[in-house]
Parts: sequence; C-alpha cells; structure tokens
Amino acid sequence: MNVSVPKEVASGERRVALVPEVVERLMQNGIQVTIADGAGEGAHHSNAAYEEAGATIGDGFSGDVIAKVAPPSAEEIGRLEQGSVLVGFLQPLTASDTVRALAERGVTSLAMEAIPRITRAQSMDALSSQATVAGYRAALLAAQELPRFFPMLTTAAGTIRPAKVLVLGAGVAGLQAIATARRLGAVVHAFDVRSAVKEQIESLGARFLELDMGLEDAEAAGGYARQLTDEEQQRQRELLAEEIGKMDAVISTAAVPGRRAPLLVTEQAVKNMSPGSVIVDLAAETGGNCELTEAGQTVVKEDVTIVGPLNLPATMPDHASSLYARNVQALLDLMVKEGELTLDFEDEVIAGACITRDGQIVHEGARNAAGVTA
Ligand code: NAD
Repeated sequence: MNVSVPKEVASGERRVALVPEVVERLMQNGIQVTIADGAGEGAHHSNAAYEEAGATIGDGFSGDVIAKVAPPSAEEIGRLEQGSVLVGFLQPLTASDTVRALAERGVTSLAMEAIPRITRAQSMDALSSQATVAGYRAALLAAQELPRFFPMLTTAAGTIRPAKVLVLGAGVAGLQAIATARRLGAVVHAFDVRSAVKEQIESLGARFLELDMGLEDAEAAGGYARQLTDEEQQRQRELLAEEIGKMDAVISTAAVPGRRAPLLVTEQAVKNMSPGSVIVDLAAETGGNCELTEAGQTVVKEDVTIVGPLNLPATMPDHASSLYARNVQALLDLMVKEGELTLDFEDEVIAGACITRDGQIVHEGARNAAGVTA
C-alpha cells in the first residue's frame, strides 16, 4: 500500500498530513509513503527529513491513499484517480460542492471530522487534536491583545489585579483555552449549555458561570450541544451581556455541528465591556459567536479589540501537524491488513467516516446537506 501526501494549497494552510516521525512508523508497518516536493516546508519539515524517514519525494496524488489536511480544491479533485481513497478534513456538512465532486470523481473519501467520537477512535480524533491547538492559541491571542496583564502582580509600584477571562463553550478548544489562561494567571470563568462540563471547568481551576436560563441540559447525541430555541438563545444573550461587561477578555468557542455558530455576544455586550477589553472569537469561521466579529480580521469596535481568527491550528503548524499525522496514522492502521489496503465498511469507524464511495454520497448528513436522496 502506498500513501501520498500533496502539498497543501489552501491560503495560509501550513500544516501537512504526515510528519517524518509518523512516516517512519508507517514504513515499519509496510506502508510506502510518497511526499510532494516541499509539502512539509510550512510545518518546518524538509524533503531531506522525509527521505531520511524512508519516504520518496514525488507526486502527492499517486498513491492508493491520499492524505491531506484541508478539503481538496476543484483542481486537486481533478488530480485524484478514480478508486483512490482520500483522507482529510472534508467539511461534509457544509462543503457540499466538494462532496459532490468527490462522488462524481469516483473517489472513496473519509472525513476526519466524521470519525465517530467513540473510545476506540480517540487516537484518530483530529477535531480534538486541532481544537486543542486552537484553544491554546486563542488564549495566547487574548493575552497578547489585552493592554493589561493576565496575572496578578505585586510590584514596588503597587498591585495589579489579575485579568478576568470568560470562556464561552467548554468543548475541547474551550477547555484548552481555560487551562492556558489559568496558566497565565487570569481568573477564568466559563459557560456551556451542557451541564456535564461544569465539573471539567472547575477541575481546571475556573468558575462555572451560573446563568438562570431555565435550561435543564442541552446535551444531544454524541455528546454535542443541541441547537437552542430562539427564546433560549435570546435569554442567554441577555444574561451574558451583563456578565461579559465584567470581563477583560472573552474567548468564545461555542459551536453546534453543521450549523451556524450560536450568537452569544451582542453589540450591547461589547458596549458593556471596559475600554481596551478583548474578544477572541474562535467561531469566526462558522459565522461568529459575537455580532461584531469580522472573519479573518482583527477589528476595534466600541474600543474593544475583536479578533476573528481563521484556521488557528495552521498558525502552529509543527505540533498541529504532528498531532494530526498521528490521528491519520491511527486511521491508516485500521485500513491496512498485511500491507494491503482493506476497507472494512462493516467497521463503525470506517463506515462513519466514509462520505463518498462508488460514485455516491454515502454519509447521511452529507447527503442531506447536498440535497441528495438516498
Ligand atoms: P464543539 O466544537 O461542537 O462545540 C464547542 C462547545 O460549544 C461545546 O462544548 C458545546 O456544548 C458548546 N456550545 C454549543 N452551543 C452553545 C451555547 N449556545 N452556549 C454555550 N456553549 C455552547 O464541541 P467539541 O469540542 O467538538 O466537543 C463536543 C463534545 O464531544 C464534548 O462533549 C466532548 O467532550 C466530546 N468529545 C468526545 C470525544 C471522545 O469520546 N472521543 C472526543 C472529543 C470530544
């Protein structure tokens, strides 16, 4: 079996699907690896490092399996051979044009984000590994943009009080943002609509923000949050606006799979913040948690700096790629038997991750999103 890794083409994408350390382990399992010229450059891995690990430098689209990070462009899909297997983030619930094109091309595609989040597949969970990077970077961005200290300082010139940080959404990224902001010395509050996370928030030394939303629990299938009703959302925004006014920084990470990010921070909430405060909106990519966020921009509104980063994991490409490559390796391990590519579609993980196969869109969510009936 041969795995090929193209050079990522999306703007700002510096990650690479396999790193030399993982190539070495794949080779030991009898998998041949071909890396496109310069594919690892953005993540600081030279061609020479890959060759030393046993890879060949060549065509990134020639293998039985093509491993990528970002969804393929139309041009990249054109280079995929019929019957080849593509592994990568594919945004199956939102990038319907890509999904249709992959089906038409006859490519078997496996989306990293569709791998079921079951215990057995934890090592393949790229949503989590990349969200960890994003949460960490988001806290650093908040600290960087804030014209005040995060930690409490006792100096000869007097005492500085610690910054108050509010993290909205305590999934994987939110929990990492909490941990990082805590390490920097901030007093951290956090809120999530899933009550199960209260304990996790507190175990990281943060305080769970109690909002009187009259909400039992908003946990839905797979441990994800359900979409709140319009009334619930309205109530949440009103209650949050007051709390946000007491904070120096807000890091928002709230998301509901396949939907626009919930709007949590209103213009009024921004107005309530003291001058110089900061909002880092990790949900910028899916519409933003803050009403005033501009995706991909840092803007100052009401004297509050609002950062709307896109693809934060790509800004820390070395470790982001290392973690991602290990996720890909774990998936490849499941796809190969005695050195041969063997896709077992009875396997819950393979079946769950598979988006297109034999010219069809086989993933239910992707099919619905693309408006295709079974
Ligand atoms: P996500 O990125 O889908 O959402 C981020 C957070 O936003 C979630 O915690 C969600 O509850 C929260 N949220 C949604 N609407 C909100 C609102 N209106 N207000 C406040 N918060 C809101 O989540 P994620 O980080 O991908 O994690 C989702 C779940 O999956 C978690 O329960 C996590 O523990 C679980 N998980 C399981 C595994 C596993 O078992 N393999 C691995 C990783 C994550």
